[in-house]
Amino acid sequence: MTNKPRALIAGGGIAGAVTAIALHRAGWEPRVFEARERGADERGAFLTVAVNGVAALRDLGLDPERMLAAGFPTPALAMCNSRGKRLAVLPLGGPAADGSTTTTIRRADLYAALRSAAAERGIPIEHGRRVVGFTEPGVTVRFEDGGEAEGELLVGADGLRSRVRAALNPGAAEPAYLGLLNAGGFTSRPVDAGVPGLVQMAFGRRAFFGWVVEPPHEPPHAPPREPLREPAYEPSHEPPYEPSHEPPHEPAHEPAAGSGPVAEDRPGNRVWWFANPPRREPVRPGEFTPESWKNYLIDLFDGDDLPAAAIIRASDEVLGPWNTEDLRRVPVWRSRRTVLIGDAAHAVSPSSGQGASMAIEDAVTLGRCLAATGDTAAALEKYERLRRTRVQKVVAHGRRNGSGKTAGPVGAAIRDAMFPLVAKMLTRKGDPQAWIFEHRVPEIV
Ligand SMILES: Cc1cc2nc3c(=O)[nH]c(=O)nc-3n(C[C@H](O)[C@H](O)[C@H](O)COP(=O)(O)OP(=O)(O)OC[C@H]3O[C@@H](n4cnc5c(N)ncnc54)[C@H](O)[C@@H]3O)c2cc1C
Repeated sequence: MTNKPRALIAGGGIAGAVTAIALHRAGWEPRVFEARERGADERGAFLTVAVNGVAALRDLGLDPERMLAAGFPTPALAMCNSRGKRLAVLPLGGPAADGSTTTTIRRADLYAALRSAAAERGIPIEHGRRVVGFTEPGVTVRFEDGGEAEGELLVGADGLRSRVRAALNPGAAEPAYLGLLNAGGFTSRPVDAGVPGLVQMAFGRRAFFGWVVEPPHEPPHAPPREPLREPAYEPSHEPPYEPSHEPPHEPAHEPAAGSGPVAEDRPGNRVWWFANPPRREPVRPGEFTPESWKNYLIDLFDGDDLPAAAIIRASDEVLGPWNTEDLRRVPVWRSRRTVLIGDAAHAVSPSSGQGASMAIEDAVTLGRCLAATGDTAAALEKYERLRRTRVQKVVAHGRRNGSGKTAGPVGAAIRDAMFPLVAKMLTRKGDPQAWIFEHRVPEIV
């Protein structure tokens, strides 16, 4: 028992774990309560921590290179149409001046790295403890198991279906379904899928598909590796991808994949992929079996001039389906001693690639606000003032990104024709997403 103020954190996901580290740094004594049992399946295959999220980890004194070592840098994205024609190459963030680069990592690896950073600081994460309610002033949290905990602050980091949010906002809107399903996975066998480390996304005729070949992981101080020499690789069609500060390349006119190296069947060369089938109604539990879901996806992409169907066939396990949802505006983020953070406050569509990074930025901001004043209510007010406008803008941006994935045949033809021109126009004066990627959490004095 110390005399530090105690913070109770509902949810041990990305927001919860990073908040615990940020509050510990700010002189609080955090405890994390995670509903799931230890080792339970983590939802989602992989995600991208954008350059702004990587920089925010650094703000906490964490070493992102170490934290994200199980992932790999993904600073650029190539878009193509259903015939495999390259439409544009767009920046995804970094490398920034401090070395931060957008990084793609398995969700379970990110959770494990964050939780072990919390454990290294002596922060307890209690699994199997679902928060079901709380009372103020002085916060008492109630758990499903009948237990209680007391503290001076409650942080609702309990995700998209937050109980803490529901208590602060009785009767407020629930997350909205955005008309897209989500699937994902990793290949188990070699597939011809393009250049390692370059994220590729394609407007298939019937659904949207994204994939990236995992680059081989080098052991530290390994001798330089021979470049992959595979029979199908033709450098003149697809030069090896090298991250650079250059503006995005002109659209190329060759297929984006199908002419790249065939990924060998070793962990370093697996293809990581996701798919977004449009669907009017959200999926209900039990609607698909693992086999029918896989076949449904293969069928959606068969006939496209993309490696999508082959990648799905080569994946032993296909994850999903999940509904794509977001949460546009949560009226109440805080009371005097309770505050929302991460998806609980502002879930962004996965199409933004910013959900994790927003959660990390939130946590760093909250830690800095609490460190700057002994008045908890004033710190929470400042946190909301610093975060609300930015996250709502990012939520709106993610929604717009997602809507382009569901175009009908006419819309798709217009999109394919216009995309390279629009991308060129938008990137003429620099990266149009710079306002997202270049944001850094302000110091608070
Ligand atoms: C398919 C998919 C793909 C995505 N891809 C990306 C991507 O590429 N890039 C990106 O940045 N973001 C992505 N996201 C979004 C990202 O995963 C979330 O924004 C991020 O996980 C938010 O973190 P969080 O901690 O707020 O919520 P979560 O990670 O959902 O964590 C909430 C935690 O709270 C726990 N919990 C829930 N209720 C309770 C309770 N009552 N008591 C105690 N614990 C509770 C949950 O078990 C969970 O561990 C994706 C999301 C999905 C669904």
